[in-house]
Amino acid sequence: MKLSQTEKKIITNAIRDIKDFPQPGIIFKDITTLLNNKEAYGVLMNHLYQKYKEYNLDFIAGIDARGFIFGAALAQMLGIGFVPIRKKGKLPYTTISEKYSLEYGIDEIEVHLDAFSSIPHAKVLLIDDLIATGGTANAAAKLINQAGANCVEACFVIGLNFLDGIKNLKQTTNVYTLVEVD
Ligand code: AMP
Repeated sequence: MKLSQTEKKIITNAIRDIKDFPQPGIIFKDITTLLNNKEAYGVLMNHLYQKYKEYNLDFIAGIDARGFIFGAALAQMLGIGFVPIRKKGKLPYTTISEKYSLEYGIDEIEVHLDAFSSIPHAKVLLIDDLIATGGTANAAAKLINQAGANCVEACFVIGLNFLDGIKNLKQTTNVYTLVEVD
């Protein structure tokens, strides 16, 4: 199930670039203009549904916070459960956690220990809006596997090709990006 050039263009054109946010030198990819554009949001979600309905997935796991938007919507379309992977300190029950490096310092994400336990060796798709260095997604994929499930693929609306994130994450799981930025 391939995204056509027209569909790719509709999605790309709906993403807004914000220069120097949240700090100088960063071009922030703003997906709020994709979400409030019913045509672009529809094209995106329909493509994800058509592609992933073939995978026999058990869960979608979304990364805090923009991964929740696409992930929860897709899980509902596929008729499967959704699991949030959150920044440290947000989940109320027993968690497992994974640290990862940022450009400056260290961050940590968590998942509930029993999040996937209703289905043995559950097949999980990981979702976020964007992959940059891949640090967050790599930690999230590891967490899914540590929780007893199987991260079969990681999906991103946007992939930043000028960083090594996609290449690095491919060592842990399959990677799919809808639009790439060079
Ligand atoms: P990374 O761990 O470096 O792959 O960073 C990915 C996370 O940071 C994702 O959750 C993205 O939403 C966010 N992020 C990183 N860079 C950008 C960017 N240029 N525009 C929008 N979000 C970004």
